[in-house]
Amino acid sequence: MSMKEQFEEALRGKAWEWGVVSTGDLIFSPELHKACEQNVCGNYNKNWGCPPGNGTLEELKAKILAFPKAMVFTTKYDLEDSFDFEGMEVAGEAHRKLTVEMMERFGKTNPVYGAGCCTVCKECSYPEPCRFPGKAVSAVEAAGISVGDLSRTAGVKYNNGESTVTYFSMLLFNE
Ligand code: SF4
Repeated sequence: MSMKEQFEEALRGKAWEWGVVSTGDLIFSPELHKACEQNVCGNYNKNWGCPPGNGTLEELKAKILAFPKAMVFTTKYDLEDSFDFEGMEVAGEAHRKLTVEMMERFGKTNPVYGAGCCTVCKECSYPEPCRFPGKAVSAVEAAGISVGDLSRTAGVKYNNGESTVTYFSMLLFNE
């Protein structure tokens, strides 16, 4: 079974959509990477999955481009309305769970990038060494990759309709 087929088998019934991109088609935006410094999410300099802990843009780019392909996958969650913040939390948690599951299954050989900071531990050990390097997940956007661009390149929807929320992750592979 090819790597792509193994990913698909693992994602079936859990992810909403998926698609394969050539990493050479990804756009690494220095502006997006730098935007993390504004710390809107509160994780800057606090988590190994986010800048500056997960490396410079050049380091992240080199790590990603070392693999020719990426499997992009999404989860979609229906909200009660666009103010359903509790629903967004539930959706984020479900997405993180699937991302960690993929990491546990394939992460030894296939780096995984998720939606936002690493949430494997309740509180990240940063700046002390990561407790679970084999499980830690880095953020897609912290590598300067816009999720909007990623969705177009992978052919998966960025927006799945009114009162829904969609989260993105990706796994790198060689085939
Ligand atoms: S596994 Fe734990 S210590 Fe390591 S980056 Fe994730 S949250 Fe931080």
